[in-house]
Amino acid sequence: MTLRQALAQAATLGVARLDAQLLLLHVLGRPAVDRAWLIAHDEDVLADPQLRQFEGLCRRRGDGEPVAYLTGEKEFFGLQLAVDARVLVPRPDTETLVEWALDVVRDLAAPRIVDLGTGSGAIALAIQAARPDAQLEGVDRSADSLAVAAGNARRLGLPVAFRHGDWLAGAGTYDLVVSNPPYVAAADPHLQSLRHEPLSALAAGPDGLDDLRAIVAAAPAHLRPGGWLLLEHGHDQADAVRGLLAAAGFAAVASRDDLAGIARCSGGRRLELG
Ligand code: GLN
Repeated sequence: MTLRQALAQAATLGVARLDAQLLLLHVLGRPAVDRAWLIAHDEDVLADPQLRQFEGLCRRRGDGEPVAYLTGEKEFFGLQLAVDARVLVPRPDTETLVEWALDVVRDLAAPRIVDLGTGSGAIALAIQAARPDAQLEGVDRSADSLAVAAGNARRLGLPVAFRHGDWLAGAGTYDLVVSNPPYVAAADPHLQSLRHEPLSALAAGPDGLDDLRAIVAAAPAHLRPGGWLLLEHGHDQADAVRGLLAAAGFAAVASRDDLAGIARCSGGRRLELG
């Protein structure tokens, strides 16, 4: 079977064209950026073992497994991260949070930053890559996810310190606390389409705000005066999260839009004292 025929067969299994191309490149041992190569070689013959492997991956994709789990990698903020079912797949929307984080520490030398619920390490590693002088910590309550994050830090040569813990318990004082915590409501039907990813990284109580509330409550004691708390949240939670931040005494409370133009992160600044 040719590469072109294999891709056509994937379409009949309900696999989107881009996904099929990424899976085929993976089977061929070629990088994800090689889609032009695939098109130029579409009459090449796919050997039987590779065809069987490709068909197996297409079936799993058809069952809803993220492409990133099937290929074992995901690009985030220009970094190639290893991912598997122990961690949430980093989303491009979260790059908005990283950009905001880099903005608020732009004028600070060696800023102290903690990423809560770091998962694959995506946010902490992206900030560290852009700011080699920053002192980054990544915290997660899943020891499994920390193994993935530490592997990514090692491969990328980035000195993020990963720590097992529950949000800010036992943490120090920071210039920036950043987090993409679980924020999906426990009964949200959307969770069904995310069933291959860890529920503990997604669901957060009846209204999805349990973890956001806990972080907003804990953060002021761990921010130096003038320090920032920046949070990702769901598409319909911006008002609620800004409300939580204001009620906790944060100043300069604002939201930023994701790539689709939806307010998907909110943050605020701990007031200077005195
Ligand atoms: N962005 C994820 C989604 O697809 C949720 C991530 C999270 O809960 N932090 O809904």
